[in-house]
Amino acid sequence: MSIKNKVVLVTGGSSGIGAATVDLLAKSGAVVIAAARRTDRLETIVATLHQEGYNADYKQLDVTDFNQMQHTVQEVIDAYGKIDVIVNNAGIMPLSKLDALKIDEWNRMIDVNIRGVLHGIGAVLPIMTEQNSGHIINIASIGAYEVTPTAAVYCATKYAVRAITEGLRQEATHNIRTTLIAPGVTESELADHITDKQASEAMIEYRRQALPAPAIAHAILYAISQPPEVDVSELVVRPTLSF
Ligand code: NDP
Repeated sequence: MSIKNKVVLVTGGSSGIGAATVDLLAKSGAVVIAAARRTDRLETIVATLHQEGYNADYKQLDVTDFNQMQHTVQEVIDAYGKIDVIVNNAGIMPLSKLDALKIDEWNRMIDVNIRGVLHGIGAVLPIMTEQNSGHIINIASIGAYEVTPTAAVYCATKYAVRAITEGLRQEATHNIRTTLIAPGVTESELADHITDKQASEAMIEYRRQALPAPAIAHAILYAISQPPEVDVSELVVRPTLSF
């Protein structure tokens, strides 16, 4: 199945998995709108795609703000007349043990990783219902299936994303597809923002064996490119252990 001319909004499109997804989907023929806060990054990504003859656009978006999310989705509709896919990818992972009491970082993870995904769903659901088609792809993690020390809150947010996606799948009407993508360790900037020294050092060894970001983009492309009656509900993508 071709994804040609599908209109796809990717949140967190400015680095890592999101940037790789923007690149791959645009090169596969989709009209891709990359959204994030760092517009300088988005501008460069989109300009490079334009130079190569691909169709892409960008929007400044903070996913923690539902009004911004609704506004962004409306801008996509105004410009392209439809939205076929949203990839709720924006996420943060400032790990620490609970007794470090990094309350602000807990709240930030809840705001970006859970509320951000809910805001994406809330903004597109009425439109996809009216369109009678659509695909909502949420990026979780292997942390949606297992909890490790320093990752209690991060994993909680990803368990939540998994629960929300499964609930959405069960409730979905109007040909709306849902997909949960759960990456294992993947090259990106995710661990760069850990402020806890112990957790940051532990990540150096843990993240040594990492997938390239395009590997996750390919999983997303696979889910989107299935025929409309096929809903790829969950994909867990990890580095090969012995590679
Ligand atoms: P990066 O840090 O490279 O990318 C995170 C993206 O999220 C950036 O584009 C950032 O853009 C965006 N973002 C963060 N906060 C906000 C916000 N408030 N509003 C809008 N965008 C925001 O990490 P990854 O590419 O690894 O992360 C992508 C997703 O993959 C996350 O959900 C992460 O949890 C998940 N994941 C990653 C794994 C890995 O090993 N890399 C493993 C499992 C899951 P900007 O700062 O410009 O706003």
